[in-house]
Amino acid sequence: MLCYGLFLADDPVVDPHRYGGGTMHTAPQLVHDLAALFVRPPGSITSKMMNLDGSRANGAKYEVQFFMEMGADLARFFGLYATALQAARHMGINARRLPDFLRLEQVTEYPLIGLDDLADSRFDETIEKEAAQLRAAKLQHNQELSAAETTRIVEHRARVGHRAFATEVLRRFDFTCGFCGMAPHSLRGNRLIVASHIKPWADSSNRERRDPRNGIAACPTHDAAFDRGLITVNGGLRVHRSRGLRASIEADTGIEHNFGESLRDALIVPSGVEPPRKTYLRWHHEHIYRDSLS
Ligand SMILES: [Zn+2]
Repeated sequence: MLCYGLFLADDPVVDPHRYGGGTMHTAPQLVHDLAALFVRPPGSITSKMMNLDGSRANGAKYEVQFFMEMGADLARFFGLYATALQAARHMGINARRLPDFLRLEQVTEYPLIGLDDLADSRFDETIEKEAAQLRAAKLQHNQELSAAETTRIVEHRARVGHRAFATEVLRRFDFTCGFCGMAPHSLRGNRLIVASHIKPWADSSNRERRDPRNGIAACPTHDAAFDRGLITVNGGLRVHRSRGLRASIEADTGIEHNFGESLRDALIVPSGVEPPRKTYLRWHHEHIYRDSLS
């Protein structure tokens, strides 16, 4: 149950697919803390997460069922998590040995952020395709799951994965629009800054979907313009406006207001943060941008 909770952690974000073998020591301290608590190696924590989300086909049947049931009713999960934490404290296990990584001891409301990106029309189609693959993989391990069950698993996996991605991108950009610098820190949690993929979710591999360097944080207006290819960012992080957008700026004061001088010349990336990868940016100019860079 705690391993399931790791999918929902946002500080640190725990992506079980990112660590293994020689890189296990780079996993967040939280993974090492939980492993120590259960007197198991850290890899057992990330393996359990991958059994839960069905990405290891040889995981036990009840693990994916647990994953689905919790995903269908997160309020119930948070109740179980709070009970487990309370029981641990009662047994004398303090916050150093078992950190309250979902911060429920301090916070009562748990916002789910950054799911807008999954409103893509290709979401359902991609989910169905991946559900069929999971169903086939599970059958090879003599586990028969219905089409409805595998769809729910894959969809929930996409949502928790996306939540971790969006949280990490927003943190890297310090909740600031990379295009205009709007930083509504006093209104956090109001979705005035969103994180979206540079190379769209439906076109990305699983690794690319989770890569925070495939993300840009932006205000809703600039996010939409980027998603629709009205603006793009070149490999040197310069922001480009499409010919169509430039014509609208001349003709329309509303567009001029949002896309004229308010748009920065270069994408704002806080110092010390790795900028978006050039491969994703190139994909964006080649497939999404409605103009050419030259
Ligand atoms: Zn903006």
